[in-house]
Amino acid sequence: MRIFTASLAAESNTFSPLPVSIQDFYDSFYAPPGKHPETPTLCSGPMVALRKRACQDGFELVEGTAAWAEPGGVVNRQAYEHLRDEILTQLDKVLPVQGVVLGLHGAMVAQGYDDCEGDLLQRVRELAGAEALISAELDPHSNLTKLMLENSDLLIHFKEFPHSDFYEQAERLVDLSLKAINGQIKPVQSVFDCRMIDVFPTTREPTRSFVDRLKSLEGKDKVLSISFVHGFLAGDVPELGSKILVVTDDDQVKGEALAAKLGKEAFALRGRSQPEYLTPHQAIEKALNVSGKPVVIADVWDNPGGGVAGDSTIILSTLMEMGVKDAALATIWDPIAVRLCMAAGEGARLKLRFGAKVCPEAGDPIDRDVLVKKVQRNATQSFGESVVPLGDSVMVDCDGIEVILNTVRSQAFGVDAFSNLGVVPEQKKILVVKSTNHFYAAFRPIAKEIFYVNSGDMYPHNAARTKYRKLRRDIWPRVQNPFKDD
Ligand SMILES: [Zn+2]
Repeated sequence: MRIFTASLAAESNTFSPLPVSIQDFYDSFYAPPGKHPETPTLCSGPMVALRKRACQDGFELVEGTAAWAEPGGVVNRQAYEHLRDEILTQLDKVLPVQGVVLGLHGAMVAQGYDDCEGDLLQRVRELAGAEALISAELDPHSNLTKLMLENSDLLIHFKEFPHSDFYEQAERLVDLSLKAINGQIKPVQSVFDCRMIDVFPTTREPTRSFVDRLKSLEGKDKVLSISFVHGFLAGDVPELGSKILVVTDDDQVKGEALAAKLGKEAFALRGRSQPEYLTPHQAIEKALNVSGKPVVIADVWDNPGGGVAGDSTIILSTLMEMGVKDAALATIWDPIAVRLCMAAGEGARLKLRFGAKVCPEAGDPIDRDVLVKKVQRNATQSFGESVVPLGDSVMVDCDGIEVILNTVRSQAFGVDAFSNLGVVPEQKKILVVKSTNHFYAAFRPIAKEIFYVNSGDMYPHNAARTKYRKLRRDIWPRVQNPFKDD
């Protein structure tokens, strides 16, 4: 038995001003065959899980390329085609295979390709043939398309947001894929379109209970897997929206009925799932009134993990206006400022302009005399088991606030995003992180309190008024009842 695996992933915010090139993949994560590290990355869990099972079970595993770009705008056509064809050529060379198990994202859009995953899966199917099992793990912040379903046998999405279960779901995917290849099960996929788009952190109710319920239904009564595909609200594609995907062991009727039932339950979560968003001023005021430290303030919509630049200065400016000193911020993406600080060196003072370079919604650049307190080449932070690059980075003291500037865009995942750059996070009154919810698992244990801030329109977060051009069907909140004509 021979199985091929590869990974190609990007989350494309089609409204973002940041085009994604091949260099963005090389900067974020690129592992040619055999070079994938022992630890999984967010979208390459299946490769690591397959290695373990190949050792145990004794099948032949052929590894293709694994590549991931930090979320950004639309992917450059040549970059997508180059990486896609690299993987297809690797597969072509080792045919026949009994299975192709992929690590994907599900919200990748390239110039000329609204549905990169559908395109890739279709080409994999053409090569591998109808008899091969084709399966993939995906991120729930994605848009599940007809083309993806038609060209796959088994798709499993992470259940948790933050995605703390990405490796657990990879192991489930691999286990079910092997069972299917061995003829022990026959996966059949059923989908319900929830006709809505919203954000669903699973760290809070009501989504927490809903996801627990999905988990409790898996593994019995012929239900192999249930995915709640949240949808990706910054990806303007025809099939944007939330879906429920039920995979049964050869029972389409049961799958359809269960998907519809759960899909209507998911629809009832709309408008109730997100935390309260404060203004920067409100959040800082509240934070200063909390006893103990640190208080975490999440800059929810300037989150590079959603494809925006991550260089907004709005919260930092508010901190400075309010005279707050005991604070730190991770991170502001500004490669030019990093270069200048590195040239000046650790301990140097310089006149620096930084931040807010990519779009007008991100505030104004900051002009200050800063002290370069730390210089770190190839800085990293951790996200669960994986190591996330920040690129060359510096920590500067700006009016008493410790600000980390970085060169490889990334949201703040780990507390070590601060500590690796010389900030002592436990000793700061306020920690500002650019992240929607992925920071939560790492910061919850040290945070006295967490406040979520809406600092503006860097990210198209209000689907009711976002100018979608490709989305055609009616979904909530653009219409109140998208099911009324059924
Ligand atoms: Zn996600």
